[in-house]
Amino acid sequence: MRNLARSLNVSETDLLIWLAENAPTAEFRHPADFLPADVVERAQQALGRSPPPAPEPEPIERRCAECMKLPARAAARVVEVGTDAVCDMCGSSANKRAALAMIEAFRARGLRRLLVVGGGPGTAEDLRQLLSGEVDIRIVDGEGHRNAAKADADLRWADVVAVWSSTILSHKVSKLYTDQRATFREKLVTVPRRGVAALCMAVADRVSTLAG
Ligand SMILES: [Zn+2]
Repeated sequence: MRNLARSLNVSETDLLIWLAENAPTAEFRHPADFLPADVVERAQQALGRSPPPAPEPEPIERRCAECMKLPARAAARVVEVGTDAVCDMCGSSANKRAALAMIEAFRARGLRRLLVVGGGPGTAEDLRQLLSGEVDIRIVDGEGHRNAAKADADLRWADVVAVWSSTILSHKVSKLYTDQRATFREKLVTVPRRGVAALCMAVADRVSTLAG
């Protein structure tokens, strides 16, 4: 430094000040910066320090192709699986899958009440279970007794009316609900196929076509 100041013919102090202001500062690096990661890890283990914890694994939701159409639930990464794996949404049950699609169709339209005209006791029980807490359901026994006033109240109550024509459904009962077709045409859907899945799919399709 002294030799440099002398050869430049400046005072040593001036040279130091000039250097302090103009020389690039040396980058500070820790010796560990030069070590490969596995060496650092071994060193930390040797010192009794556990390596930093791995991040929490993101929850994964496995879904079949059909359930991929349903909206994602919070905080889960959705992965499509083939038919050989069990779907986390529907449990690979066709009935449950159709019910979920119907529930979603109702939710998307802000609807809540489904009236089903017809169907046996078994299917009624299945429907109640599948829709529990999501869609309010009223089921009219296809062979039971219903008067016009009661049918009228049912029709007014419902957002969607499914007439399950393929099941045990007496003409007398179905007539009560379909005679007023002009008034309630928008709500009515005739389901020609048997089975809970068929009913849910038909209703979901109908609801999806309703004006928003
Ligand atoms: Zn599924």
